[in-house]
Amino acid sequence: MKTCKGIECQLCIKACPTKALYWKTGEVAIIDDLCVYCTSCVLNCIVDDCIEVERRRNENTSEKFSTPTQVLALGENTNSQKRHDNIMRILPDNEAYLKRYCKPLFSSEAG
Ligand code: SF4
Ligand code: SF4
Repeated sequence: MKTCKGIECQLCIKACPTKALYWKTGEVAIIDDLCVYCTSCVLNCIVDDCIEVERRRNENTSEKFSTPTQVLALGENTNSQKRHDNIMRILPDNEAYLKRYCKPLFSSEAG
């Protein structure tokens, strides 16, 4: 594991579409249940082997990726239907997306 550039960086956290990553006292932490294995964090990290995601499979096996090369290899083995289903589970419709990511610009209580 190489050295994380720290709290000023957070490129991985900004890149995560499901907000599965957060800054936890000195390191990036992951909420496993929110991860859809999109690989954006690893592809956006400026240091190879800095952030590592473990993809657990039902058969008690897992695969890890922490470099763009591993991401490419994983992509060839990943069932796109499963990825789609995972994303739809977390963001089933536009409303769910807006609720998670968009804050109102103005409060209706203004005035
Ligand atoms: S692989 Fe998981 S943690 Fe990384 S950006 Fe995608 S959803 Fe977020
Ligand atoms: S894991 Fe990588 S992208 Fe995330 S904060 Fe550290 S150096 Fe930046």
